Amino acid sequence: MDGPLKEKFPNIFGIDSHKDCYVREKWVGPPESGSWAVIDQTLPVSSECCSELDELAVVLHRVGVRQGSDGWSWFGSSAAPFSCNIFAWRSEMDRIPTASALARRNIHVGDQVCALCNFDVESSLHLFSGCGFSYGVWYSLGKWCGLDSVIAFDNRDLLELYKQWTGSKEGRKLIQGIFIIGFWVLWGARNDKIFNGKDPKVFEIDLNVKSLSFLWYKHRGRSKNIVWKDWVVSPLYMM
Ligand SMILES: [Zn+2]
Repeated sequence: MDGPLKEKFPNIFGIDSHKDCYVREKWVGPPESGSWAVIDQTLPVSSECCSELDELAVVLHRVGVRQGSDGWSWFGSSAAPFSCNIFAWRSEMDRIPTASALARRNIHVGDQVCALCNFDVESSLHLFSGCGFSYGVWYSLGKWCGLDSVIAFDNRDLLELYKQWTGSKEGRKLIQGIFIIGFWVLWGARNDKIFNGKDPKVFEIDLNVKSLSFLWYKHRGRSKNIVWKDWVVSPLYMM
């Protein structure tokens, strides 16, 4: 992002009681299970502030924190990119700023209709597990990974689809990582529609997941030999 946060979000900065701080100081709790505490939630906030908060939430949800220096970080059994992992976990816990989640906090953002399908009220459950548009993406990714089906009743089911894979443990981790990245990319497409008016397309999201997961997997050290032209046919071609 260009420029300091205080210039981009002057209203939030105005009411912040602790102005001279690092971004990471606004993260409460351990790296893998904390959350952003940007403002004191008990304060009355203006509508300008609410729209800044919504915008800031989008910026922050592309960011994860951890101990140590900057860079890509891996944790947990899936070893997916750290910030994607946090995001998928938060979506499962219904802790991402969907329209209905914001409405529960009295932050109202338009008509609350899902930006991806324009059909149902947007909640974390709908956005990833109930949305017809998202299903198109999961279906395509499932087929790419060689899964028999991508039936999911909730977000956890999506995060556990890798269990269908009966091959190596490495393959299971890979599939899990791909689906975690899928959450991240779908959320980005949703934000792109809301904030930039860009219409989401299944094939574009599908391709984004494929390329992001390719970069992720290639940089894991043991997988340096994978090549894109085979990867797009099947991410498991080396298993
Ligand atoms: Zn939808």
